[in-house]
Amino acid sequence: MKILLVQDKGINIDFEKSCRILNNICGATTFESYENAVTLDTPSSFINLKREINVLNGVTSTARDYAIYATYRAYADNYFFHSSQKTMLLSFSGWVHYTSLPLENGLFYFIAEVLALRLEMYFRHQETTGCVYDFLGDKTGVDTGMKMAHICKDHLIRIENNVNESKAPLDTLPDLMKILDLVSNTSKRGKSVFEADKDESVVSLNWSTFEDQVAQLYRELGANVKQDVNLSGFQVDIYLEEETPSKQKIRTVVECKFYKTKVGNRIVNDFSRVVETLKSSGSVDKGVIISYSGFSQDAFLTSKTSGIELLRFEDIKQRAGMKEMPPKERFKKSTNLVIEEKELQMAKAKEKSPQIFVLMPFSSDLEDVYYLGIREVAETLNYSCERVDEIEFVGSILNKIYDSIVNSRIIIAEVSSPNPNVYYELGYAQALDKPLILVTKDISSTPFDLNGYNHIVYRNIIDLREKLKSRLEALLLRYDE
Ligand SMILES: [Zn+2]
Repeated sequence: MKILLVQDKGINIDFEKSCRILNNICGATTFESYENAVTLDTPSSFINLKREINVLNGVTSTARDYAIYATYRAYADNYFFHSSQKTMLLSFSGWVHYTSLPLENGLFYFIAEVLALRLEMYFRHQETTGCVYDFLGDKTGVDTGMKMAHICKDHLIRIENNVNESKAPLDTLPDLMKILDLVSNTSKRGKSVFEADKDESVVSLNWSTFEDQVAQLYRELGANVKQDVNLSGFQVDIYLEEETPSKQKIRTVVECKFYKTKVGNRIVNDFSRVVETLKSSGSVDKGVIISYSGFSQDAFLTSKTSGIELLRFEDIKQRAGMKEMPPKERFKKSTNLVIEEKELQMAKAKEKSPQIFVLMPFSSDLEDVYYLGIREVAETLNYSCERVDEIEFVGSILNKIYDSIVNSRIIIAEVSSPNPNVYYELGYAQALDKPLILVTKDISSTPFDLNGYNHIVYRNIIDLREKLKSRLEALLLRYDE
């Protein structure tokens, strides 16, 4: 799958660099930057989707499977993007209002979304969850999206089903995972995706360990491998013998190139001369070049005529990692990491949750009841206490409420005046069997039969403080045992 990146005039992203990084981490997806900025419309107007997709398809006649056009102009509906089968028009309008992360992180995030939507296109989250399938109707969710950049369990299951039913391609899933990892690893630390350029695995590799790694991968693929072999007077990096399913023996010479830049056609030419000589002397059957940084376009052309196979390091890694695994296992291997990440996030949400969570209507009348009547009491007992409007959240308020209810030790609900939200949340807490304390000023106005509930009827805030303190002490004592 080849993705072409096209920019509107004035978009401030290094597209060349973006492609270099993406091509380095991706296996089945390749990226190319369209060399010129293309202005599809007058800069002040809204994006006209249909017309501009047509214009874009016209100007980018280069062979590609997908084009992403980035512009500062806005959609009339203010969405980040609209996409068709082969094109995404991506709007960075108002970007700085939604996040302090740089544009390139956004570009990478939406590229991941292109890949994600190929795997599953029907189910999107309406709330912000940090899953790449968030619809982002609330555009500030893009900040959480980039920082969490993961695929949730529900979506992994859907993707797995789609792949098993051959409704979705499996090949781009590893690329999607890698882009999401890159986006979240950098965004979490407030860094640009460009700053991950020096990936740790790159630093720890040098040309000789690179060669060792390639040899090891071939061993894992079942080949008989020898390193630094002299064949008919030629020194070759790796020589390997493999058996085909029909028991035919194939002898291959492998040249390893650990360059920072793409391997060009000169190297392919030189190597093909060596291979031709070895072939005619009957000592090998084929030649392969493995490059750490990929190959230039002319190298590919040369390889077609010379019969040399060109493989990126990623290709061989992927081949070894997925060898002979049934689709389900392959899927698991690539998704295990994501699931671990998700579990870590849930553990973190738990850590951040208050010990006492307070459900009450948003009302200025209740400010004193909360701050003086409840929170101060909780804090004197050394328990953290929050109610929902105190919580800093970027994402969905409801998700945050549910998370807090799940993870809190005790729920206190103020039910003096009937409030559907509070009742709903209370029902949720009750279903989870959470220790509850209902507090009310007026027992006659609550629609509850309070018998059977742990409840407090208070006359004023001082009264509430005293009663709540002794009730909490008793409850926490029991809870701590
Ligand atoms: Zn999801």
